[in-house]
Amino acid sequence: MLPGRFGGAVGRTRVCPHCKATILESAPICPQCRHHLRFVGSAAPPVPEGFSALRVAGTVQHPERGGDWEYSVVLAIRNERGEEISRQVVGVGALRAAESRTFTLSVEVLTPGGKAK
Ligand SMILES: [Zn+2]
Repeated sequence: MLPGRFGGAVGRTRVCPHCKATILESAPICPQCRHHLRFVGSAAPPVPEGFSALRVAGTVQHPERGGDWEYSVVLAIRNERGEEISRQVVGVGALRAAESRTFTLSVEVLTPGGKAK
């Protein structure tokens, strides 16, 4: 958690009441289950501005022949010094002959402290 430009704390998290994912407190929509989230209290905070910072997609194709495959999808996050600050398995599964899976990674950035000029 870092001090924000306006005195609040950015990076604060909460648990989505629908899917139990850990999400940003400022998120108006859960990025995992895509439910709109209600805020406790009388007035909802303003919707933060943001942008899509990264989106990468790739497909893994099992050939027509050969034995079954198993896969693990591992997501690692490193800081500016190259230190791993998070590593988790976000999905596992199996691929049989001629099956494929497409994986998409996206990073959505919210800018509650204002965007760089
Ligand atoms: Zn959710």
